[in-house]
Amino acid sequence: MNRLKNIAAEQKGKLILFIVLAILSAFAIIGQGYLFVIIIDRIFLKGYSFSEISPLIIGLVVALFLRTGLNYLNGRAGARMATLAKRELRRLFVHTFSRNSMQASLEGQSGQKVGLLLDTVDEIDSYFSSYIPQIIQSTIVPLFILVVILMEHMATGIIILVTAPFIPIFMIIIGFNTKDKSEQQLDKMNAFSGTFLDTLQGLTTLKLFGRSKEQEKTIQKSSLDFRDATMEVLKIAFTNSLALEFISMLSIGLIALEVAVRMIIFQDITFFTGFLMLILAPEFYTKLKELGNSFHTGRTSMAAANKLDIELSALENDETRWGELPLAKNKPVHIKVNDAGFSYKEGGFALKHINLELEAFEQIAIIGKTGSGKTTLLHMLAGLVPLTEGMIQVNETSLKQYREKDWFDQLSYISQNPYIFSGTIAENIAIGSTKSAYQEEIIKAAEKAGINDLVDSLEHGYDTLIGEGGRGLSGGEKQRIALARAFLKRPSVILFDEPTTGLDLQTEQILQKSMEELGKHSTVITVAHRLHTIQKADKIVLLDNGEIKAAGTHDELLTTVEAYRNMVTVQQGGMTK
Ligand code: ADP
Repeated sequence: MNRLKNIAAEQKGKLILFIVLAILSAFAIIGQGYLFVIIIDRIFLKGYSFSEISPLIIGLVVALFLRTGLNYLNGRAGARMATLAKRELRRLFVHTFSRNSMQASLEGQSGQKVGLLLDTVDEIDSYFSSYIPQIIQSTIVPLFILVVILMEHMATGIIILVTAPFIPIFMIIIGFNTKDKSEQQLDKMNAFSGTFLDTLQGLTTLKLFGRSKEQEKTIQKSSLDFRDATMEVLKIAFTNSLALEFISMLSIGLIALEVAVRMIIFQDITFFTGFLMLILAPEFYTKLKELGNSFHTGRTSMAAANKLDIELSALENDETRWGELPLAKNKPVHIKVNDAGFSYKEGGFALKHINLELEAFEQIAIIGKTGSGKTTLLHMLAGLVPLTEGMIQVNETSLKQYREKDWFDQLSYISQNPYIFSGTIAENIAIGSTKSAYQEEIIKAAEKAGINDLVDSLEHGYDTLIGEGGRGLSGGEKQRIALARAFLKRPSVILFDEPTTGLDLQTEQILQKSMEELGKHSTVITVAHRLHTIQKADKIVLLDNGEIKAAGTHDELLTTVEAYRNMVTVQQGGMTK
């Protein structure tokens, strides 16, 4: 909510414009009322001729146009303010998302995040486009009207002074309820988006396991929940309008009664005054009613703002900030890990007491059983997850003091399932490069990664679309694209998650050859499964349940570590079979 106020405060010019427009509106409304009453008074009671009052009629028309024009300007300024605010919020969101550690960004469902970024931010709209302008209008205009009424006819003014406070009191009582209910509604909506996207992404799996029917039910329940929450909010909105309408009608009725009694029975006020009261009093209550309605939308927006605020603060408080130190490009790096630890969640899987020293251009193999934490260690070394204790040093300086971009420019990560984004093959390879890559360089990198022949055989060659909506790629082909990215980028550190299964012999050979080639100029850290890769490594790190059990060369481990000996025997046995 404070964030909304801050954004509003940043647009001071607009706020001043709203105030000026409101004052002009007040004059237009009062002027219109006066002119109308004078015209009626003069024509019907005083017997003026049409030509005598024609200037007044022109004045009335001008006042009407002025009022409409001012309304339009007010709406436009509000919409403009809302657009700027939403743009700012979305920018803030994307910025925070992109700056955060992978860990924080991966938490929660993607659909929910999309929901936040699109729908929840949209809910903010009415705060700026209607709530703020209306608050200003509804404070200034009724005040002016009230002053005029008090000057013309004290009794009506007193009735207004007594009845008007009921409107804000009522609004506040209802408003509190609205905010809670709207928050629930937004939760339901984001949950709905999340479930829906999850289902879409897992459709193949769900179908294969014959679970699409159940999922249909889940989606149905989620959407019905959302409907119910929406109806709750609408119910409050309707009660709100009814109550406001009731109070204002009652008050206007009271004023009419008083005016009628004074005019007809006591005859102590003129027609002019009585009629003016009957024209101005509804204007007064209309403004207050409008405030009531935008108060409702305002509360809805505030609920959305609360959600965004919680999300943004959680993201901003993620203590994984990077520093500002530059890191020289394409220079060998020396990595030292001092007693580092990381855990996914309180009580969840944890890496503990990791001590490692990696010289430049060393080849490191990380081995261990499934679930022993190999991939997690790779992420830790890449600086992708926040440490809970200890420190990683790169060239004798804490990794986190470097600029994030500089570090990732030095790094290539070839995972088991590399991400292929929607675009051409050339674009997908060039993502690995820090400079804009020329076509020849891309082809050279593709050749080294052993994918050039395949690309050449395609009708559109390097311009073939891949990724979402484009041509599909096999696991081995994706890995080769990732290798080509690394060849183009020439990083100082390569992290490689060796595929366990599923690659044909040819692809495996290409991968091996490429990794050897890349390893000439880089430190290579591999999560290794094949004995061949493991044996060749300068240093083998054996992980067990998140801790380093042993580290050394193949020969050292063979003689000293029984678990390692067993593993090698099993693998060799497996190979000869
Ligand atoms: P390995 O690569 O050796 O198979 P991982 O590093 O992938 O092991 O996983 C180690 C442990 O951490 C596993 O028990 C896994 O369930 C757990 N784990 C992995 N990712 C997450 C996550 N995002 N949140 C919580 N636990 C996780």
